[in-house]
Amino acid sequence: MVSTVQEWTVLTIVKWTEQYFKKHYIESPRLDAEMLLAFVCQCSRIDLYLDYDKPLRAEEREQFRELVKKRVQGMPVAYLMGEKGFWNLDLFVERGVLIPRPDTETLVEKSCDAIQKWQKLHLKKTCSILEIGTGTGAIPLALCSSLQNICCISVDVSEDALKIASKNLRRHSNLLNPRFNSLKLIQGNQFQMLSRSAEFDFIISNPPYIPTGQIALLQKEILFYEPKQALDGGEDGLDFYRNIFLNGVKHLKVNGELLLEIGYDQVQGIQALLPDSMELICIAEDLQSHPRVWHGNRLG
Ligand code: SAM
Ligand code: GLN
Repeated sequence: MVSTVQEWTVLTIVKWTEQYFKKHYIESPRLDAEMLLAFVCQCSRIDLYLDYDKPLRAEEREQFRELVKKRVQGMPVAYLMGEKGFWNLDLFVERGVLIPRPDTETLVEKSCDAIQKWQKLHLKKTCSILEIGTGTGAIPLALCSSLQNICCISVDVSEDALKIASKNLRRHSNLLNPRFNSLKLIQGNQFQMLSRSAEFDFIISNPPYIPTGQIALLQKEILFYEPKQALDGGEDGLDFYRNIFLNGVKHLKVNGELLLEIGYDQVQGIQALLPDSMELICIAEDLQSHPRVWHGNRLG
């Protein structure tokens, strides 16, 4: 009889788990297997293959088995690892806060471009930014990592999200002072906590935008694990945009710019909500060529 203990090397485990994940319809079986195993072995995915014949220790096998079990039940890899890469940063994530998406990097990229353009026209001035719905703090931290001299206020209604955002802020505090950046986190409902006279050069948001009726149709990883409050945009998915146009844009300076992540099919719906005080600059597409960012500015 073959000893099973000796068979559980890095390579056999990766291969076995890949097949097991495939059977359970996990979308990226090999990647997930490698990420979870690297997490357990406390090394990078590449490092796994430097030592692929190495047998795993019993406690590593036990920890890995638990993670695999939870993964096939639907728990996203990022929650299992407690971390997610976004832009050039590793961010803490936990259940209770949305896992930052690659789509949102398009919003960050377009925001960086627009802020840099603004900075060329306003030399040495600090650029003030309001962000609504910060979650992990992904967007302002990514901006701080790519820009200097920005002053950001980020709001979220969720206490859980703000706890994680604060942890991420502490983890990446090197992106602040030495770069002349500041980031303040505030708990509140959209614009309600702001003084009436508060005005910003930019407002940026990835708000919840899934129509309520479509939430139940989301893949189980999202539906059963991620916070509904981060996703549910009301009956037509446009509630947050409606409120941003109604109550948010008065917090924009004249010529101030608004950058919003949107659902791929929401351009027309959003254009129909546009108040006279705002105009569209452009719609930017994500890496899959879907409309993903609405960029506009406040008129005089
Ligand atoms: N900015 C993060 C990102 O891109 O990964 C999270 C975006 S998530 C789609 C939307 C966020 O808005 C969630 O963190 C949620 O808690 C927050 N949110 C929901 N309703 C809100 C409200 N009324 N006021 C402020 N934030 C809200
Ligand atoms: N893109 C996210 C998803 O597919 C939705 C994010 C949002 O509502 N802002 O789940």
